[in-house]
Amino acid sequence: MQKYTVRVSKDYLGFCAAHFIVFGNNVCERLHGHNYQVAAEIEDDLKSDHLVFDFIEFKQILQGITDSLDHRMLIPLNSDTLGVEVTDETVRITSDEKEWIIPRDDCVLLPIENTTAELLARWVSDELSEKLEAKLGQLPRVLRVEVFESPGQSAIIELRNEA
Ligand SMILES: [Zn+2]
Repeated sequence: MQKYTVRVSKDYLGFCAAHFIVFGNNVCERLHGHNYQVAAEIEDDLKSDHLVFDFIEFKQILQGITDSLDHRMLIPLNSDTLGVEVTDETVRITSDEKEWIIPRDDCVLLPIENTTAELLARWVSDELSEKLEAKLGQLPRVLRVEVFESPGQSAIIELRNEA
């Protein structure tokens, strides 16, 4: 049995963003930033052109996703503990102890519970799945996304679409 995987992990597949994580009993980290890096893998059959997926296209699709997060504050819309109010001009985030008011254009609103590397990887993998499915007409057999919060520290999600 042969198994093929293509992986992209270019330096430009990254984003600089601000966030804070909410821990257990509603403890919020201080607002800070990371130079995130993203790598992605597709495991699938070889197509008639002897490729799993074209590298150029794979990089372009992933870069579109990472660019959408670059130079933004990452806002978790589905937080159990944070209040998030969005207007045309601002995003107001509240916790039991703090309040943050950020220009709307400086934020990216993400349908996730917390801006951990794990859930950022899930969001990226969801976006990537949607775009790959549109391209391939089906989901790849296995998709892996790795989000590095900093060098040597990453979270990986694997989506399997096996029959
Ligand atoms: Zn952080």
